[in-house]
Amino acid sequence: MTAYQAPLEDVHFLMKDVFKVDQLWAELSGHDELDVDTADAILEGAAKICEQVIAPLNRPSDEQGVVWVDGKIVAADGYKEAYQTFCEGGWNALEGNSEYGAMGMPKTLVAPIDEFVRGSCMSFGLLPMLTIGASVAIDKHGSEPIKERYLPKMYSGEWTGAMDLTEPHCGTDLGLIRTKAVPEADGSYRLSGTKIFITWGEHELSDNIIHLVLAKLPGAPAGTRGISLFLVPKYIVNDDGALGDRNSVSCGSIEHKMGIKASATCVMNFDAASAWLIGEENKGLACMFTMMNNERLAVGVQGLGVAELAYQQALAYAKDRLQGRSPTGAKNKDQEADSLLVHPDIRRILLKMKALNEGGRAFYLYVARLLDIEGFSSDPAKQREASSLVALLTPVVKAFVTDMAFDTAVDGQQVLGGHGFIREWGLEQHVRDIRITQIYEGTNGIQAMDLIARKVIPDKGAVLSVYLAEISAFIDEVEGHARLSFCLPALRQLVVMVKEVTDALISASAGDANAPGAAAVDYLHLLGYLSYAYMWAIITASLAVSGRDDVLAQAKWHTAKFFFSKLLPKTHALKESILAGSDSLMALGDEHF
Ligand SMILES: Cc1cc2nc3c(=O)[nH]c(=O)nc-3n(C[C@H](O)[C@H](O)[C@H](O)COP(=O)(O)OP(=O)(O)OC[C@H]3O[C@@H](n4cnc5c(N)ncnc54)[C@H](O)[C@@H]3O)c2cc1C
Repeated sequence: MTAYQAPLEDVHFLMKDVFKVDQLWAELSGHDELDVDTADAILEGAAKICEQVIAPLNRPSDEQGVVWVDGKIVAADGYKEAYQTFCEGGWNALEGNSEYGAMGMPKTLVAPIDEFVRGSCMSFGLLPMLTIGASVAIDKHGSEPIKERYLPKMYSGEWTGAMDLTEPHCGTDLGLIRTKAVPEADGSYRLSGTKIFITWGEHELSDNIIHLVLAKLPGAPAGTRGISLFLVPKYIVNDDGALGDRNSVSCGSIEHKMGIKASATCVMNFDAASAWLIGEENKGLACMFTMMNNERLAVGVQGLGVAELAYQQALAYAKDRLQGRSPTGAKNKDQEADSLLVHPDIRRILLKMKALNEGGRAFYLYVARLLDIEGFSSDPAKQREASSLVALLTPVVKAFVTDMAFDTAVDGQQVLGGHGFIREWGLEQHVRDIRITQIYEGTNGIQAMDLIARKVIPDKGAVLSVYLAEISAFIDEVEGHARLSFCLPALRQLVVMVKEVTDALISASAGDANAPGAAAVDYLHLLGYLSYAYMWAIITASLAVSGRDDVLAQAKWHTAKFFFSKLLPKTHALKESILAGSDSLMALGDEHF
């Protein structure tokens, strides 16, 4: 089985040539001393630990899984040591607040490292991913004493984070939660209830676990307006910062899952556990969204990381495996057969995987760039615009990237034929692992509803128009390059199509409450293809301008042409399906199913 290799060359190309992060960082407060050479050294260090320490855990830990014994979780062999190495290297502290001990690195540098970590072993990567998400929420909404007490230990990795939303009777509809928190005289709370599916909710890899838990106060308004956010540590932290008594939070059992078998998915019981409010009472869902939005981007990156490994393994297999002859005559005359790479259908699959992975990588970096502008630009107007684009595109990163990543893993299996179905080749693990990225952090169906019903219809497509105007302005700017004629007219037509489809959907929704839901997933995919087309156009435009013509540049040109000629036509089918409305979905009576 081919070992994971961090895609350093592509990341370097995207950061330096395409997104020109040097210029971006120079304009951002706090990052003006960072340059591409320093970033390269950091990326190389990350690639090393991922390839040498984390990736070797992937398959054995999938076989071994996690074990629950009397409330304790036994992690797979090697996790403890790898986690220690990871934290000692400072990899847990890259993007947090430097006032509390983190490094405050920009997302444009951190996101590719996240890809490496999650691509090398998804189960392991979930542990820092949840910790980072929890620390982002604490940093944004926690009081000063809470931040001082918890953040440094979370950045150092001595304490990990967990996100506790889901309950047995509700996941999507969090307004239904039953977990309760009762105020105490000293300003703390006593929290009781049961949460399920809590990723790394319990384990022995760190000294403490900091749960961010959604609960309701007595007399809170019904539904999502009555949800508050609480911090519940596994061990109480004393005033001097030392660990005190065990809090009354325990792991009742773990789930036996299809994939990510080495990450503990826990049932957590809170029995009048000591808890501290984060943010304001009844405003907890908004605070939790800080963590959830962070995690949604992270889940997109996670799916892509595993899809990259699927591509690497499928490509290596296709080069090695000899089957049949090229339709144009034998290529490998010394051997009994040619490699799989001669077959147009295998090339179709591999190119699809490559085009979606590289387009997806560019897209998450594009959104990371917006996040950096939102977080660190000194121009408030730029910050506001970046922030609204991030809100628009976050569900697209989460859902489109992971939908494409799952397809990519399945395609990788296909390249291996029967061996793709056999455990020792690894592809079946990727299919099992990636599948959850389409489900957790809000299913991809819910992401699509978020996009259409919250981000597009309410403002009548105003933020979307900003995105479309940016793409149109880019086309105007580079239109003179003859080499870009394969993509710019198609991109311009797609911008027009998206505008037309959006207008039609907004009017249909005014008279049909089912219209947004009926179109949601197709609409999200349409924006996904638009975004990837934009990325491939930006990539090739950067090559047209620089004149770069090495192997990487040639591969990019060919892959971009494949994307535009073979994948982008799917947008016409999506348009037809969106405009077909909700009738065919809703006409069927319940008795007809
Ligand atoms: C391995 C794993 C790890 C997880 N980790 C965590 C974690 O760390 N913390 C945590 O809190 N949770 C976690 N979850 C829970 C996960 O986020 C939820 O399972 C997910 O959000 C879906 O909720 P649900 O399972 O209750 O499905 P439901 O809400 O019951 O939804 C079922 C189906 O109906 C659809 N649906 C529901 N409502 C609507 C609607 N209004 N409109 C359209 N469609 C709708 C959904 O899209 C879905 O397809 C994890 C789950 C798993 C399996």
